Amino acid sequence: MQGMGTPAFEDLGHGITAIDTGYVRAFFDASHLVVEGGRAAFVDVGTSHSAPGLLAVLEAKGLGPEAVDYVIVTHVHLDHAGGAGEMMRRLPKARLVVHPRGARHMVDPSKLWAGASAVYGEDAMARNYGQVVPVDASRLLEAPEGFTLELGGRPLLFLDTPGHARHHFCVWDEASRSMFTGDTFGLSYRELASGRGAFILPATTPVQFEPEALLVSIDRLLAYLPAAMLLTHYSRVTEIGRLAADLRRQIGELVALGRAEDGKRERGQRLRAGVERLFLGWVRDHETPLPAERVRELLAVDVELNAQGLEAWLDRDRRVVP
Ligand SMILES: [Zn+2]
Repeated sequence: MQGMGTPAFEDLGHGITAIDTGYVRAFFDASHLVVEGGRAAFVDVGTSHSAPGLLAVLEAKGLGPEAVDYVIVTHVHLDHAGGAGEMMRRLPKARLVVHPRGARHMVDPSKLWAGASAVYGEDAMARNYGQVVPVDASRLLEAPEGFTLELGGRPLLFLDTPGHARHHFCVWDEASRSMFTGDTFGLSYRELASGRGAFILPATTPVQFEPEALLVSIDRLLAYLPAAMLLTHYSRVTEIGRLAADLRRQIGELVALGRAEDGKRERGQRLRAGVERLFLGWVRDHETPLPAERVRELLAVDVELNAQGLEAWLDRDRRVVP
């Protein structure tokens, strides 16, 4: 769906636009464009395939590539940062803003590629991500906890938010009272919304899922009293208190599942089955008006990722506590 033409995008007010990167399916993976005083920044950029579409939306806003000051990646997972190098190649004035723990992977993406290949397989990698282009180290801006930058005079504050990944920050935009959450505040696919509102799901992706850290990070985000959370999957949610409570409960249930299945034969398979059972139950309780088969299809990749992430966590946990 990417390539030709302008992708689906939505104005969220305050100079913020959600853009569909085209990765996986419609309304799965968002990039957010922020414009202030004629200067622009992208927060998360999908894959290399997404770059032409993101620039088409920039142009639709009356801005050229030289208006972009920053490409910001919440973390270096490839559905967020896989296209960063390609974007930097097309944006002559931009600097790449990245968590200090993710910086070296942007300069030399070979380990990222190998890590993702282990999860997704080589074939899917080439098809889904294209090339991951390295970024010149001199164009990097590392954003540790408390770092601020100004976009056309508009302050953006960076918060270190481990739990989904140790190379993850969230970005607080005081002007709109919005938090760019990457994957820290979970995933909210629009298809799964119901009369009860948005549906949410934690992302316990390999290989750095840390439940305790994730709960602390979620609390930190809430402390800013955001009017909106802007998720990469997919964009704006506003019922923050309820969604945070859902996430906390779900993380607890996933952790309990992991501990219950740990040490058993065929742990991986049992975890996949258990994660799917939990997901389908949560969707059912949310009264999403979709057939179970469709829900299973929509969440298949997340079942796999969350199960693998639980395994990575259990193995890491065992090494720390002998
Ligand atoms: Zn991620």
